[in-house]
Amino acid sequence: MVVRSGRPPAEPGQPLNQPIVPASAFHGGGSIEYAREEAPTTTALEEALGALEHGTAIAFSSGMGAANAVMDLVPPGGVVVAPSAAYTGVAARLRELDTIDRIALRIVEADDTAAVLAACQGASLLWLESPTNPTLQVADLPACIEGAHAAGTLVLVDNTFATPILQTPLDLGADIVLHSVTKALSGHSDLILGALVAADAGLAERLRGRRVLLGAVPSAFDCYLALRGLRTLALRVARGQETARLVSDRLTGHPNVERVRYPGFGTIAAIDVAGGADAADALCREVRVWTFATSLGGVESLLERRRRWPLESQRVPVGLVRLSFGIEDAGDLWTDLDHALRAGG
Ligand SMILES: *Cc1c(COP(=O)(O)O)cnc(C)c1O
Repeated sequence: MVVRSGRPPAEPGQPLNQPIVPASAFHGGGSIEYAREEAPTTTALEEALGALEHGTAIAFSSGMGAANAVMDLVPPGGVVVAPSAAYTGVAARLRELDTIDRIALRIVEADDTAAVLAACQGASLLWLESPTNPTLQVADLPACIEGAHAAGTLVLVDNTFATPILQTPLDLGADIVLHSVTKALSGHSDLILGALVAADAGLAERLRGRRVLLGAVPSAFDCYLALRGLRTLALRVARGQETARLVSDRLTGHPNVERVRYPGFGTIAAIDVAGGADAADALCREVRVWTFATSLGGVESLLERRRRWPLESQRVPVGLVRLSFGIEDAGDLWTDLDHALRAGG
């Protein structure tokens, strides 16, 4: 799917790849008229993402653009249940909407299923992220989704960390999947894009309507790049996951590491560095193979101390460093991290 989907028809003379079509308007009277509503390069990416997540996909200009489209569906004063350590931007936006009484926010721990289900009573939307960014908490998705639906609550799962290679939440009953396509799906740290995928065609149409009116429209060039990067997703995830497992194992018991957070799958881990913020900052300065930068899911391994961001949740320890495993040699990554931890500590 990841390689085959979203291509022009397999007919003689057709290109193998969807071309970049830089047009805002199309000759009138056809099925496509204006690129805020629909555009060929965007449609190709949407076909591929829909095939991977088993639903209908709508691409947005960023993950946050996609997130805001879903928040816009919540009725005035509607209750939204969200994890304490959701993605920084999502959590900050939900708090803003709560502050102006646009929504009523209930914060839960994603891995406390009983608390999640209790909070869902009377809620419009359950916002899940699993594993969570950056604390790597894993939600019991089937139980949370079933309980939320019993309470009449719509369920969104941010699947940016697991990717559809490891987890397809719509198959578990979720209503909407969110992706920051900026991360592993595109995989090369060279664009900002987002997507929503819904199993229900009517819901997908409502979400597409949000894109049209809110205007978070992706560019044809970025959709092309995302589709190109997506082709190698399965290989990149397999490689990153293998290295993440190996390095997380070795980090366990490291004298300069208080705690290793790795859920056993995926390409992202986090460590609580012994010595707190200063030691964590020193680690980020000392690395040579790893790159100190925000973001994740690219071919290059990145690390950063999350609490350097003012909007990051106060529940995230000050010395927590998130590790995004790329495709470099596992031995090189381990040696560099071990050396930088010892030099910094
Ligand atoms: C980065 C990220 C987002 C936001 O996506 P952008 O493309 O940066 O707007 C949302 N959720 C998660 C889990 C992320 O890592």
